[in-house]
Amino acid sequence: MLNTVSDRKAEQLANFGVETVLQLLTTFPRRYIDRTQQADVSGLEVGAPAAVLAEVVRVRTRRARNGKTVVDITVRDDTGTLNIVFFNQPWRRHQLREGTEAIFWGKVGEYRQERQMVNPVVDVVAGVDDDDADEPEIGRARRTLRILPVYPASAKAGLTSWELGTFVDEALDRAGEMLDPVSDEWRTTLDLIDRTTAFTNIHRPATSDQEAPARKRLVFDEFLRLQLKLVLRRRAFEDNARALRHQVSPLEVAGAKDGTLVARFLEGLPYALTTAQRQALAVIVADLAGPFPMHRLLQGDVGSGKTVVALAALLGAVQSGHQGALMVPTEVLAEQHATAVRAMLGPLVDEVRIELLTSRVKGKARTALLEGLANGDVDIVVGTHALLSEGVTFQSLGAVVIDEQHRFGVEQRATLRDKGEEGDPDLLVMTATPIPRTAAMVIFGDLDETILNEMPPGRAPITTTWLPNPGDEFQAWERVRSEVAAGNRAFVVCPLVSDSPKVEARSATEELERLSADQLKGLAVGLLHGQMAPAAREGVMAAFRTGEVQVLVATTVIEVGVDVPEATVMVIESADRFGMAQLHQLRGRVGRGTSPSWCFLLGAGSGEDGVANERLAAVAASNDGFALAEEDLRLRGEGTLLGARQKGQTDLRLASLSEAGDRILLTQARRVAEAIVNDDPKLEAHEQLADEIRLFLTDDEEEYLFRS
Ligand code: ADP
Ligand code: MG
Repeated sequence: MLNTVSDRKAEQLANFGVETVLQLLTTFPRRYIDRTQQADVSGLEVGAPAAVLAEVVRVRTRRARNGKTVVDITVRDDTGTLNIVFFNQPWRRHQLREGTEAIFWGKVGEYRQERQMVNPVVDVVAGVDDDDADEPEIGRARRTLRILPVYPASAKAGLTSWELGTFVDEALDRAGEMLDPVSDEWRTTLDLIDRTTAFTNIHRPATSDQEAPARKRLVFDEFLRLQLKLVLRRRAFEDNARALRHQVSPLEVAGAKDGTLVARFLEGLPYALTTAQRQALAVIVADLAGPFPMHRLLQGDVGSGKTVVALAALLGAVQSGHQGALMVPTEVLAEQHATAVRAMLGPLVDEVRIELLTSRVKGKARTALLEGLANGDVDIVVGTHALLSEGVTFQSLGAVVIDEQHRFGVEQRATLRDKGEEGDPDLLVMTATPIPRTAAMVIFGDLDETILNEMPPGRAPITTTWLPNPGDEFQAWERVRSEVAAGNRAFVVCPLVSDSPKVEARSATEELERLSADQLKGLAVGLLHGQMAPAAREGVMAAFRTGEVQVLVATTVIEVGVDVPEATVMVIESADRFGMAQLHQLRGRVGRGTSPSWCFLLGAGSGEDGVANERLAAVAASNDGFALAEEDLRLRGEGTLLGARQKGQTDLRLASLSEAGDRILLTQARRVAEAIVNDDPKLEAHEQLADEIRLFLTDDEEEYLFRS
């Protein structure tokens, strides 16, 4: 262990998540303080921070009115004198006795027309004697005339930035020349500095232009570890997989009338698949029939028609004598999908048994359903997390579709896949709204990717208007009234007030009352929120479909899957509280028919919150989910996009996908990772990299990736 780390500190470091030297060295400075600006006393400028090297010529101690000690010091260099005041630091009079030479760093102020520094940072250069025992020991770290790293100190763990800096300094010294897992060739090709220099310069930059190349190299390393992990996971999956070779052929997608379920399903659809859907399905079908289990991400904008594609894939498994499962994150969505899927099947519902499994399915119904899954009577099950529970077994699970994958973790994906008894089911995951390619490489880097980049024809355009001024909101309500008068329907989305469904429901109810008495007076208004019983919810949805309810005031439960073609207006209140992806997803509930549609975004972010307003402006300006996703990444970084759980699964500390340069590094790291694994599938010749990756893996994962 490091000398500077006591047992107690080691424990605190462990609480802070630092147990190894690599973890310590990858605890990067949050920012830097540049204290390199040295000046002569005569050259000090009021208002600017600077460092001066000067000799103490006078020390006075007095008491302030509040009883605290004040130490007044005068210092001098060849060019002049400066007053320095220390409040409540009585030990300074011992540290800075007359004759002491020290560097003082601080902001220069003015008091009674004289320049002074208050409580500056001090580095003693030459003491009168060496008695500065009261000064906290900061190791070799000099506090002035350098660029100081500021570490993410943790009061909770009881660690200061200083302490971390001291430990890091020792670790760097002891590490000496580090082995570099990236070969000279790659480094030259990718213009990366060596690892030892990178670690040294990120922690102790001598000049500020050393930071960027150091950061670049270390960001690359983060991506490399991540991509290696994903590439290894993918290879291990393929090596260990027992594929079910489904009996389905791309010819069925191309329109062969061979009487199979898939062929008849596609033939029976009231519309032709788009070219993008057809191409995606052809690839998926080839996976289903192929020698490896499918492991694929299907991306498409809201309304691009992912569900039909997913259902066709599930039917491919069913016609091969297996079962299919569609997992979604919420009960409302599960109910919606079950209904939608039955409707899409048309007359085939008599042949294909579809069931819904959520935590609401209880008692006898649940027992019967579980039996049906176990004995193979149920062909396709649509459900929530409930599908993951232990009691759920399949006779032969052949294909799994996970919708809105970002709300599930990798383990949950694996849990469902492991329910395949006869072999590994084929897996298709879908995102609700597009995510940028780079983010997909981070979250879904172990999946193949297919994109639906085309909308079904005949969609009506959606005009989105952002109304930041309350005085303009009447425009939105006028549109609601005129559309309703024309026989169409409208949504009003209530502000996002809290994470609590109860609070959310209460505020939606109040909003309904407020609007019914005012803006929506005289209209038939209905309410939809997540706290309503399923029957009540279905009741109001049915009424909305028929037009008995003209305006639906709802919480974000309508984000998921509500499909009413007559809905032509959506008003989103306090839109600044929603994320871009969510606004885009919400907006996707209108424009589903052939009439032109409108979406109004009400509200604006507070003055400081420029980003909220940029978000709203972007959503109003573009209807392209892929473009918005890129913009979102640029505006907010990947944190919100990946969600806490995915972020936790990565060790991306420096890297940020909102930086264009980092995105390039990510792609490069992917290439290097693939090259390394191609040559050395178990990383036997890359021991150090393997060790580093292990550090960021759970035990199960390690076993899975490295067992031979
Ligand atoms: P998303 O990709 O957002 O999940 P859905 O699968 O819900 O989209 O499809 C949106 C709507 O488009 C549904 O009503 C669906 O029936 C319809 N749809 C899907 N594919 C086509 C197509 N090729 N032509 C016309 N309508 C389609
Ligand atoms: Mg969908």
